Formats: sequence, C-alpha cells, structure tokens
Amino acid sequence: MPPPADRQLAHEIYKQLIEMKSGFTTGATTPVAEAMAARFRQAGFPDADIFLGGAVPNKSNLVVRYRGTGARKPLLLLAHTDVVEAKREDWSMDPFQFIERDGYFYGRGTSDDKAQAAVWVATLLRFKRDGFRPDRDIILALTADEEGGGPYNGVDWLVKNHRNLIDSELCLNEGGWGEVSNGKKIANDVQVSEKYVINFRLEVHNKGGHSSLPVPDNAIYHLAGALSNLSKFGFPLKTNDVTRAYFEKLANIEAGPVRSAMSQVSGGSESAMQQVAAASPVWNSTLRTTCVATQLEGGHAMNALPQLAAAVVNCRVLPEDSVEYVKTTLQKVFNDDKVEMKIVADVSRGPSSPLNPALMHTIQRVTDSLWPGVPVLPTMVPGATDGRYLREAGIPTYGVQGFFMDVNDLRMHGRDERMGVTAFYEGQTFLYDLVKTLSS
Ligand SMILES: [Zn+2]
Repeated sequence: MPPPADRQLAHEIYKQLIEMKSGFTTGATTPVAEAMAARFRQAGFPDADIFLGGAVPNKSNLVVRYRGTGARKPLLLLAHTDVVEAKREDWSMDPFQFIERDGYFYGRGTSDDKAQAAVWVATLLRFKRDGFRPDRDIILALTADEEGGGPYNGVDWLVKNHRNLIDSELCLNEGGWGEVSNGKKIANDVQVSEKYVINFRLEVHNKGGHSSLPVPDNAIYHLAGALSNLSKFGFPLKTNDVTRAYFEKLANIEAGPVRSAMSQVSGGSESAMQQVAAASPVWNSTLRTTCVATQLEGGHAMNALPQLAAAVVNCRVLPEDSVEYVKTTLQKVFNDDKVEMKIVADVSRGPSSPLNPALMHTIQRVTDSLWPGVPVLPTMVPGATDGRYLREAGIPTYGVQGFFMDVNDLRMHGRDERMGVTAFYEGQTFLYDLVKTLSS
C-alpha cells in the first residue's frame, strides 16, 4: 500500500477523473486536461513544461515534462482520458459517479483507462514533492479519443504535430494488466504487441430480374458460397518472438491437459499449435490471423432476384502479416471473381515492440517485490490501443499496469465497470516503483 497521503491523493484524482464526462462521442477531454494541468501548476511545475492542445478545442491533450538529469532519453507515460459511452439506464448505478462499494470502485473508466491516468498524475506529483531527480525526463501524456479512434486521436495528433514533446526511448501504456483466476494472481501481463484490423466489404452485383424466372447466376448465392468457404478456412498457425515467449511462460502456469502441447508450441510443432488453438478462442487468435463475417445485407424485394449481396469481413491480423497477403489469401479462399473486395477505412498497422530483455527483467523484479512468484507474461493482444501509433513512430510501447483483475469478469467497455480497491492501490505502488526504477 502506498503511504496514506499518496493513497488519498490518488483517490482524489481518480474520483475527479471518473466524474468528468469524457465519452468518446458525447464528451470532451479538454476539461480533464485542464483540471490535471491545474494540479501540476499548483505543485510548482513551470508553464514551459506543461502543454495543452489538440486537434479540436474540446479534444485537448495534456503533456507534462518532469525534468531529469538527461543522462538517458526520456520515458513516456501514456493514458487516454476519453471513455466508452455509458448510459444510466444500462447500469445499476450512475456511471459518472465514483462509488466505492464492497471492495470495488465503480464508474465508467475505472479500469479503462482512468486508473492509470490517476496513478501517473499522482506519481509525478509525489516525485515533485519528494524532490526526486530522475536520470531522464519523465513525460506524461494524457490523451484524447483512444476509443474508436477517429480524427481527434491525441496520440496520432501529437506524433504528427508535436513529436518533440513526446519523443522518448520507450513508453508505458495500458493494454496489460494482472490476471486473477479463482482468486489467485496468476500473471502480470505486459502487452508488447497487438494485432491490427482490416475490414473488407464484399459485394456481388447482378442485373437481377423477376423471381419467378431464376437463373444460376445469383448475387446471394455467390456471396453465400464465398462466405461458406471462409467458414471452413483457417489462416496458417504460427508464432513470433512475443507469442513464443508467451506460450513458454504460460506452459509453466497452465495445469490442464493442454500444458504439454503448449510447451511444444514455441518449438514450432504444427500438431501442438493445432491442439492449443482448438482449446481456446484466445489462443487460436494468438496463433494466427483471423477473418470472420460480421455483417450481411442483400436483396431489395421478396419477389425480385437480388441485384446486390454484401458482407463485411473483419480481420485481426498478426503484425508480421501484410495487408496484401491477407487480401490475396481471401481472394483464393472465396474463389469467385464475381465477389468484389474493398477495404473499409484506413488500415493502421504498427510493428511489435522489441521484447526488451532488460525491461522485462526490471518489470519482473518489481513484480516479485510486490507479488513474489507471480510471473511476468509478454502478450500480443487481439484488440488495439494507441500503442500502435507510437510503435509506428519508432517509440517502443509496453502495456503494463499491475492492476489485478479477475480474467472471467473483465468489465472494460461494459456495464458496472469497476476496479478492486486493493488492486488500485497495489497498482499505484507497482507503477510508482517501476517508473522510479526505470529512471534511476
Ligand atoms: Zn483503453
């Protein structure tokens, strides 16, 4: 547990953040950025080290620089301040009131991502109060519009417009947390890599006609045939540096029948990979690029031959697989030149961060000091965070939080989002120790 005064400070900031409505579509991040900037000014941070700005007036980001000796390149601490929308009627309580109940803090953003934002702010204020002199600048970026991306994404905007403000050797971000299963802490995850998304729209056009005079050349049948082929297809199973390390470590934790197969995955055994992929959708998604049909439309009247049949196929692509590879593979799978494919929206693809052994060792050491015996697990996640913009810009980014949560009750983006009270304060200590170790 952090010292009482620091605990109280983190609690106060956390509450303030949760109660500011910063919904991705309905809210604003500027009041959040301004409120945190006021705290830093009050604590004696010079104006020159506090930057406020964003793509539009209501989507501001805050960047604060805590000066070090400059012996090493800066360390960047990132958290987004927008949240997924939350409706009062969907929740059993007001999502924008910070409520402590039965050992949990409730409210939209309590886990994604305002806990980390609050801890970052509290950590820098504590450093300032204690007169800590790091051997590198520590930069805090609290950014807009991570959820759902879009034109006002703060990290994207900062990389393009104020790269110098956030330029750093590495970044710590969301995306990794502590895994609790059956009440036991099983791993402290570090997100090193993420899959990227491609949405394909499939269209089959046909001249149509009267349904009383059908012909074999039918838009719906073409599309259905292509999708049926897709349903039977799986991209090749494979591993990369991150997923090899992941399965190696996981084999030591896993107790079930899949354990021995898991330990052979890193050796590249095809049958072991098949067994592991079949055992869980998460592991399947870790071992291959996946593409799945998610939307369907077609036809314009009950008594007319369809002139259009269309579908969306959503792909979650391994960082090492290219857009072109996925596209040509799907074309072969569909095997029908009547099926036209186009990519919906821009594809944003970032590389993996290197599996930095010194950093992983440091994270393991700090983890051991708090939770002896809990392994640090490098992960590649099927979702996406702002880490991709930084990785693309050449700033290796690692998702690490040390907030432990029940893997069977993750509530980010869902109703009654919450964070364990103890988990929050332990995470505060973990992140404080980690930042201090990485800058001493
Ligand atoms: Zn998030």
